[in-house]
Amino acid sequence: MWHLRSPIMNAPPNTTVWQQPSALNQLGLPKRSSWQAMWRGFRCRCPNCGEGKLFRGYLKPVETCAVCGEDLSHQRADDAPPYFTIVVVGHVIVPLMAAVFFATELSVMTHLAIWLPLTLVMTLALLRPIKGALIGLQWALYMHGFDPRVEDPDAMPEGFLTREPG
Ligand SMILES: [Zn+2]
Repeated sequence: MWHLRSPIMNAPPNTTVWQQPSALNQLGLPKRSSWQAMWRGFRCRCPNCGEGKLFRGYLKPVETCAVCGEDLSHQRADDAPPYFTIVVVGHVIVPLMAAVFFATELSVMTHLAIWLPLTLVMTLALLRPIKGALIGLQWALYMHGFDPRVEDPDAMPEGFLTREPG
């Protein structure tokens, strides 16, 4: 049997739980907009305030936001940013390349001269915003150490689907 562990689900049966619909998420924590946080992260800004810088290097996130002081060291973007960057760039470059290939009679060297640099530039341009958006999503969903109640940042977040023994 699958259960979603949340304060409402833990309430005894036939109990009416009064809760402002938009104030808290299913973890009982203040609701955060995923889209807003991802857009702020995509713009390489702090997901909490949208003002402070998210990165101190090309891909190195800041420990805390210089504007609002939000602790951003809990991010665990890991290898998701390159994965999503490859997906996005591949879905743009490959159809474009095929369209140009069938519409023109360019030499192989000309194709290489067009598509290799374009792939490189797109990848390097998108990697940082995509990493920012993923950090924003992790922040908005209280993943890893972003959940203030979690002592082990690498543990599964509370509310994750768990299978009860038996
Ligand atoms: Zn901030």
